[in-house]
Amino acid sequence: MLLRPEEIASVIKREISSYAPRLSVAEEGSVVQVGDGIARVYGLGGAMSGELLEFQSGVTGMALNLEEDNIGAVLLGSDESVREGDSVRLTGRVAQVPVGDCMTGRVVNALGEPIDRKGPVNASAFRPIERVAPGVITRKEVNVPLQTGIKSIDAMVPIGRGQRELIIGDRQTGKTAIGVDAILNQKNTGVLCVYVAIGQKMSTVARLVKVLEDHGAMDYTTVIAAGASEPSPMQYIVPFSGCAIAEEWMERGKDVLIIYDDLSKHAIAYRAMSLLLRRPPGREAYPGDVFYLHSRLLERSARLTDEYGGGSITALPMIETQAGDISAYIPTNVISITDGQIYLETELFNAGIRPAINPGLSVSRVGGSAQIKAMKKIAGPIRTELAQYRELAAFAQFGSDLDKDTLNRLRQGERIVEILKQPQYRPLPAESQVMVLYAVTHKYLRDINVEKALDFEREFLAWIDSRHPEIPAEIRETGDLSEDLERRLKEAIENFMKEVRI
Ligand code: ATP
Ligand code: MG
Repeated sequence: MLLRPEEIASVIKREISSYAPRLSVAEEGSVVQVGDGIARVYGLGGAMSGELLEFQSGVTGMALNLEEDNIGAVLLGSDESVREGDSVRLTGRVAQVPVGDCMTGRVVNALGEPIDRKGPVNASAFRPIERVAPGVITRKEVNVPLQTGIKSIDAMVPIGRGQRELIIGDRQTGKTAIGVDAILNQKNTGVLCVYVAIGQKMSTVARLVKVLEDHGAMDYTTVIAAGASEPSPMQYIVPFSGCAIAEEWMERGKDVLIIYDDLSKHAIAYRAMSLLLRRPPGREAYPGDVFYLHSRLLERSARLTDEYGGGSITALPMIETQAGDISAYIPTNVISITDGQIYLETELFNAGIRPAINPGLSVSRVGGSAQIKAMKKIAGPIRTELAQYRELAAFAQFGSDLDKDTLNRLRQGERIVEILKQPQYRPLPAESQVMVLYAVTHKYLRDINVEKALDFEREFLAWIDSRHPEIPAEIRETGDLSEDLERRLKEAIENFMKEVRI
């Protein structure tokens, strides 16, 4: 037999060049260490970051640290049933939640499982909780208002659909109250709401759900909660799950308002999880990627062009500060990510100015173009007059003989402060706000006792409703205050002042 070395060599070469390694993935691994809601798993070399794992006892985990010879996973449930040596399987899935209209009116946990005793959610679709935020070409300008029904916000820090506006303040300054009022005000507007409760007491969440139910707001609202007693991984994923639910609606052309209450607790849960996973701690012991944690969440709020569905997600994240310190790590991070902030102050709150919004430190970077024309025309002077008032009031404490101009400014400032007060659960429609603020900025309240300013508001709105309902109707329809309409409004206010004694 004749050996032809060239031929053999060429065959071998061809085989080598076409050789494709076909690795078989070890689908099963085993637990080497477990505790504090964290498991280290040996094997599972093919795991993806964020992939769900199934433990022998039935508990689900999420692979987060992919290391050379093991993976660090967090358990989405109790770690008590997980033992060393247990087998672990890859599922090939990432965490996902049920989405769609079946979610409205429901109270669910971080995995989208119902916790409201109203039976299972009949979901037809699921979405992964993590998703890349919409890109530049899919986004549209923010120019449609999202009315919160709160006078001081709609007038001074207006919010547009698709905006992210931070609500920041110490504990017990009315942060949640603003979020809840904003939800209540979306009734009959077609805006769907998602309230994400992170690390709160479940009794607080239950109370909030009750308030929403009593005001008929659960018809268009989803509450998604990870309570203070739940493992930190659940608290970590819950805002992403809430966002996935909102995204589904956004892509179907709906406008959604999502409230993250609050991201301070979210950051703390993430810190706990990261430290247990032995990721290196950075400033204030938060891991290095805590900025990315919140930016990737908030970037998912957007207003889409019609081609991509045309919906929007407006986000109201909340941050709790310690002693008003907005320069701490997490507050500065989130301030830099959002399109403005509403700053609440304990001193104002205790002085009875509620909502306790500090107009000097609160801004809205994009909402101005979304404000309705009528409001834009009259709201301008409010900010400046308030700022002047604050300055003058500080000086006025020292001297007694003030000139007439200063006294007038003080009087005007006091009345603006008073008229911007608003009780909870009483959102005011935009047209009512316009009429009341018109009256105060045009100095019609000058001769009314300061304490009576809110009585004026109530009586005046009732009077307008019975005598001139066409005025608010026209403002509502046109969104504008034409010269003719303004003249009629003026006349109405003057008549009211003559007829009714406040
Ligand atoms: P926490 O730090 O506990 O989450 P928070 O900042 O969310 O507090 P809220 O729970 O909204 O504050 O409000 C604190 C208290 O102030 C509540 O009892 C609430 O009823 C009251 N409150 C909030 N806003 C107003 C308001 N506009 N008028 C009257 N009371 C209000
Ligand atoms: Mg709160």
